[in-house]
Amino acid sequence: MSVINVENLNKSYGKLKVIDDLSFSLESGKQIVIMGASGSGKSTFLYMLGGLEKCNSGKIFVGGKEITKLNDDALAKYRNREIGFVFQFHFLLPTLTCLENILMPARLGKLDTKVVKKYILSLAKRLDVDDCLSKYPYQISGGQQQRINLIRALSLKPKLLLCDEPTGNLDSKNSEIVTDLLLELSREFGTTLVVVTHDDDVAERFNHRMHMVDGILH
Ligand code: ADP
Ligand code: MG
Repeated sequence: MSVINVENLNKSYGKLKVIDDLSFSLESGKQIVIMGASGSGKSTFLYMLGGLEKCNSGKIFVGGKEITKLNDDALAKYRNREIGFVFQFHFLLPTLTCLENILMPARLGKLDTKVVKKYILSLAKRLDVDDCLSKYPYQISGGQQQRINLIRALSLKPKLLLCDEPTGNLDSKNSEIVTDLLLELSREFGTTLVVVTHDDDVAERFNHRMHMVDGILH
């Protein structure tokens, strides 16, 4: 069963055509990496999948739901409950502890944080950052921050995990750790994983690789 179906998607910024009649589908539970030159539209495509950016025309279905038809409230709910995002820069709030940062999506979604907390603790142990939970982001390393970020993205068990250059500001050792964790956790939870990267070492670890060229995925 496909979890993502994209039909004839188009996106321009003014005169600049970024996505050009792109059609694409992805089966549930698959793990793919999207590569491509800087400026080729990888992030734009990912943000449209995640309901962060609007297209000019075309349709995007995620889990059978047409997200290109949703209003802003429904889109916010979709992003909160069905999608996990990991960005290059961690976007952890500096004035909150790591645990409070991770609990943000649960709080926004008005969920029982007790239940979520239990799951977060097990993930933190697994990712070897349980001793970071009570610390502030500035007190831990970049690799640890990205693992905290990953736990936040996974905290509500999304069916789709979207990652934009998730290892972009990590050294090669941490980059390998984070990539392997993404692959391992998504396989284990059956989460569909879409990673955008320009790093060949990251891309090599995926079985399915696609390239964004001239606004089309090949
Ligand atoms: P990539 O992630 O592959 O590097 P992007 O999707 O970020 O590429 O950008 C694709 C193109 O669209 C680039 O030329 C970029 O400058 C342009 N672009 C991206 N976002 C905007 C925006 N909000 N307004 C205008 N142009 C944009
Ligand atoms: Mg980008």
